Amino acid sequence: MSATCELLIVGGRIVDVDAPSGSLDDHAVAIGGREVVGVGPTADLVDRWTSKRTIDAAGGVISPGFVDAHVHLSAYLAMAAPYARPTEPGRFSGGSNVAEIVPFVAELTSMQLPAELTSVLLRPVFAAMLKSGITSVVDAGSAGHDGLVSAAVDVGIRASIGASLADRWHGADGEIGRRAEVEQQLDAARAVIDAHDRAGDGRIRGLVSAVETIACSDELLTGIADLADGLDVPINIHSHITEASDAAHLAEYGASATERLARTGMLNPRCTAMHVGNATDDDIAAFAEAGLTVNHNPLGNAMFGFATAQQGAIPKMIDAGIPLVLGSDYAGSMIATPFDSIKAALSIHREAGGADDTISFEDVIAMATNPGVAVGQPGRVGRLAVGQLADVVVVDTTGSHHLGDRHPVPSLALRARASDVTTVVVNGELVVDGGELTTIDESAALAEAQGLLASMR
Ligand SMILES: [Zn+2]
Repeated sequence: MSATCELLIVGGRIVDVDAPSGSLDDHAVAIGGREVVGVGPTADLVDRWTSKRTIDAAGGVISPGFVDAHVHLSAYLAMAAPYARPTEPGRFSGGSNVAEIVPFVAELTSMQLPAELTSVLLRPVFAAMLKSGITSVVDAGSAGHDGLVSAAVDVGIRASIGASLADRWHGADGEIGRRAEVEQQLDAARAVIDAHDRAGDGRIRGLVSAVETIACSDELLTGIADLADGLDVPINIHSHITEASDAAHLAEYGASATERLARTGMLNPRCTAMHVGNATDDDIAAFAEAGLTVNHNPLGNAMFGFATAQQGAIPKMIDAGIPLVLGSDYAGSMIATPFDSIKAALSIHREAGGADDTISFEDVIAMATNPGVAVGQPGRVGRLAVGQLADVVVVDTTGSHHLGDRHPVPSLALRARASDVTTVVVNGELVVDGGELTTIDESAALAEAQGLLASMR
């Protein structure tokens, strides 16, 4: 006797970087409610499950949903800015001038942006992300949270969104001083979480994030750790960005960023440290011991010349068993697809390491499909297994650019494009079907956002 499920995806090759072969051929995934209810050979699952809808994934790869774990969502407003050929380094170039970057980001994330504005702006952004296979997105610090959440719920993407906090940054004289009250900062974070956590049938998680370790007093860091613990939400903090930012931190506090994160309770398994292009062996040992997750943003970091790969920290953290999660961090300039970020990670680390075994395809695919901690669903997303929340992507590999395709690992790492994504399921809901968004009228949403950006020029 067979049981009933909502959706059966059959006949594909499941990419499984933990399996010795990396591939489970002619497999199927059964989805019921919000969860994966069956995974196995197609013949077995077709026997065991009667589904309301069956999708044939023959000639394709079935993958856990992809993640963009670092986007400053409201920064897409910069898409309205006119292009001019640059004549000097940009604000973020080199990533080292914390005296300029930190006040800029602190100001940006504390702006008041009306929900009507951010919701209109983000609908086509989330649509593009979903259609490229991104099922989870983490806001690394934005303004206009109400609109960001409503757009995510409308479009159907899994998102973690919340206030980005700071209480100490550089003034006009270049000196760091107190610029905001700790309680007021924590209240701002609590308000977003209270308003939105678990919205969209559980797809939305509130988060508490921080502008940079250097921009937080001990009191604020302790408050963030306590708040996140009390409300059971994830923490995302920019930290260990470059050698220069770590040196500035040491000069300001007389302690390393790792030491201060440790003594304030921030080194814990609900915390994701973002960037971490510069980490010493001691930092890496402390992260591994604490169960910290690290977010890596190869595309955005390389574009700004942060020298992230040159420090060699990311491959060392992989070796140390630290869970890594891939992000883009280039909002305002492009909407990155998972395949953009995967290729960026492979190419910059192999170039910097001077060898093609510096980082493996499997390492990077694991990072690209590891949203759990950062998106507030630890252990519940990132694998195709019974009991996991059903975030599933089908990538067609029959196109000319997949010529000779034999295995899902190189297919996803080297050949796949956003346009190959045919099916996307988030939280058990079919949100991209036959390459088309099912949740909103994408062309209307795009026209509305284009109009908005044009009105700002
Ligand atoms: Zn960031």
